[in-house]
Amino acid sequence: MNRVYNFAAGPAVLPEEVLREAAQEMLDYRGAGLGVMEMSHRSKEFDKILNDAKQDLIDLMGIPDEYEVLFVQGGGSQQFAAVPMNLMKNKVADYIVTGQWAKKAMAEAKIFGQANKIASSEDKTYTYIPDVSDLPISENADYVYICENNTIYGTTYKELPNTKGKILVADQSSMFLSKPVDVTKYGLIFAGAQKNVGPAGVVIVIIRKDLITEDVLPGTPTMLKYKTHADNNSLYNTPNAYGIYICGKVFRWLKEMGGLEVIKERNEKKAKVLYDYLDSSKMFIGTVEKEYRSLMNVPFVTGSDELNAKFIAEAAANGLVQLKGHRTVGGMRASIYNAMPYEGVVRLVEFMDKFEKENA
Ligand SMILES: *Cc1c(COP(=O)(O)O)cnc(C)c1O
Repeated sequence: MNRVYNFAAGPAVLPEEVLREAAQEMLDYRGAGLGVMEMSHRSKEFDKILNDAKQDLIDLMGIPDEYEVLFVQGGGSQQFAAVPMNLMKNKVADYIVTGQWAKKAMAEAKIFGQANKIASSEDKTYTYIPDVSDLPISENADYVYICENNTIYGTTYKELPNTKGKILVADQSSMFLSKPVDVTKYGLIFAGAQKNVGPAGVVIVIIRKDLITEDVLPGTPTMLKYKTHADNNSLYNTPNAYGIYICGKVFRWLKEMGGLEVIKERNEKKAKVLYDYLDSSKMFIGTVEKEYRSLMNVPFVTGSDELNAKFIAEAAANGLVQLKGHRTVGGMRASIYNAMPYEGVVRLVEFMDKFEKENA
């Protein structure tokens, strides 16, 4: 077996320990005589898998009793519709547009009501986060929406917006569980699992219980109502059982490591190696304003498309894969999620340094 260092933005690297354990349990889950993929979602074994995953997540994030944790499907993109369908009581919401995911979410919300762009960083191709301390929040806004870490552009919020009392909704897909967050500051957090937590096909929703109601927009499908999933402990229909099982193992992996303070320190240490190198390099340039640099997604360029392509190809040949930037922005992007070992980033920087010297 020859595992590479996988810098993909998602689906992305998972902890090797988790994969090994899952492999061991693949054919016979703890004496059940069958694997989790083959198991009824109503079995006592799966019931425990789901409830343990939920409890471990609650413990990790310190999620208060006033919040519900849901495991749903449809990807992050389906939440772009679910959020307005459930929360747009006045049919007005404010969006802070810091990249393509926020832009898509706003476009989706416009199907259901008035979605206002109250701030944007589009003027500088989303290389920064706008000042969010005193925004023109709409008086009748049902919520204020952010994408807290911009996977494509590599920016992240250092301060949450002042929502002037309105509900904050955050897409945390590419930063979920990368550091501690104060859940009480949010009305709703969602995250697609395939970035930092598990396989594609699971979305984790953390929602304040008073926001879970039958009072949703007319025509909201049963499967898109948060209440449907909350009333049924995420078992209204067949969930992505295997995906939840892997997420549960990742939660346990984080817990055993010491929790989100510990992973935050590790992530900071890892990101520093790469950013310090970028700041010293004459060939590779980080594309994000320093203040807003993401701990998770690190985009960079050489200034030459040819050199970029050469770098990506040679890195891949050296076991450093998926370094190509998003198809809409080009250049390179190293996603260094929780499961990327420190050693992987060191190897990347050593390779960049060698490449720089050879191609100077
Ligand atoms: C990947 C991503 C999405 C989209 O997720 P899908 O599961 O592919 O729908 C949404 N938001 C952010 C921040 C992402 O990184």
